[in-house]
Amino acid sequence: MPETMKSLLIFSLILLVGGRATAELLSKSQVYAQLPSIVKAVEIESTRRFLNPPKVTVLDRFDESLVSQLAAKRLLDFGDVDDIDKLQDQLKFAEQVIRETFTNGKIAGFYDVAAKEVFILSYAIQDRCRDFHYNEEECNQRLLTIIAHELTHNLQYQYHPNLLQKKIERRDDKSCTSRGTKGCDIVTAVLEGQAILVQSQVAKAMGYQYQIDPLTDFRNSLQYHRNRLDEVKFAEIEYVYNSIYFAGYSFVKAVYDKYGIKKTWALLNDIPTSEEFSAAEPPAMNCLSALSRKAGALASRPPLVQELKRSN
Ligand SMILES: [Zn+2]
Repeated sequence: MPETMKSLLIFSLILLVGGRATAELLSKSQVYAQLPSIVKAVEIESTRRFLNPPKVTVLDRFDESLVSQLAAKRLLDFGDVDDIDKLQDQLKFAEQVIRETFTNGKIAGFYDVAAKEVFILSYAIQDRCRDFHYNEEECNQRLLTIIAHELTHNLQYQYHPNLLQKKIERRDDKSCTSRGTKGCDIVTAVLEGQAILVQSQVAKAMGYQYQIDPLTDFRNSLQYHRNRLDEVKFAEIEYVYNSIYFAGYSFVKAVYDKYGIKKTWALLNDIPTSEEFSAAEPPAMNCLSALSRKAGALASRPPLVQELKRSN
């Protein structure tokens, strides 16, 4: 390639990168330097100590090699290892779920229960900060509070190792609470609610300029996704925001306001029933309307319409 072409190429690459980045996130080492103070703040706000704070990995790009590593760990913990044929399918499925988590652009971070490790997807956070025009400081503070959220999930499983079992026990409860949450998702809603509560308390304790108002945050995020996802995908994410995050946080916050943080831990021993979960606050939305909307969207897809016609 001639020299002039080379310099053109380099120049245009720089332009492209320069044009994309509006908020420059903290470097990985800067984030890691702040970890001890986040860990401490989570311990204080949650009133629980880490036996061992989990490894926190900040990713500034998707790393495909993590997919098979994490899938293998999940299978060792949760897979049916007696059936080799099934195991292959389970491995493929786990890999698919994990790859989707890293690449769907909707997830900022997660706690991997099998690996006991926190992953922060700073590339996804940066993209979202750009979309919402957050300034640099706010974006970095968001990233740090997401670490606090995921660390709280580690504490939940450290102090309540039977949480996965509780989720499995509730698997068949498909009834809808008045808050729009399926009975089987109440465990998840309570875990998310408590993690969001600790996250917002940490933001306050650290004196961040960015103070999380979770309910406004959820509304903004939903609005953002509404224009970008098809109806079925949006119905899925709407359920997660409204019936898990929104309902879970409202419930845990109501308990916290009345009885304090310790009582929110008692909830994990004694997961609320559908009636208790419904009672704490007025419903965020009607579960049935969300489900019927989803059913409507599914039905309007050509293959399913044909299938329905055939079965009639
Ligand atoms: Zn969470």
